[in-house]
Amino acid sequence: MRSSLEGANCADLPAFVVDKYFDCNTRLEPFRAKVAKAICENCVVLVDCVDQTLVMPRLPARGIIAGMSIPEIERARSWLSYEHGIRDRVPPFDRPEWLPLSEASNTVEQWRTEQDPDEPRPQM
Ligand code: SF4
Repeated sequence: MRSSLEGANCADLPAFVVDKYFDCNTRLEPFRAKVAKAICENCVVLVDCVDQTLVMPRLPARGIIAGMSIPEIERARSWLSYEHGIRDRVPPFDRPEWLPLSEASNTVEQWRTEQDPDEPRPQM
């Protein structure tokens, strides 16, 4: 998937390169995914691309966007949904370390650290 952000690394690539590396099957073609992630890593609009990707209404079925595979994007979105009160339960996987903390994230993190570890967590 090619980004429309100005200055995006992927915007200047030939279509066949985008198809081959960015639209790859990340599970079956890990090398291609790695190449796409390396291109994203050095992209000057990576931060904006991550922001846009995390709120995209529809994700493609496969590929790399903003340096993330679709499952990685879905995990990050699950955490954001939880932290913004859209999702009720804590996601059953660790919060991605790279995911920026928002005001809502900070509130949830503060609540989590204040909890007595022996007390059962209330279901929201
Ligand atoms: S971070 Fe990756 S997907 Fe996003 S604009 Fe840059 S090269 Fe394209």
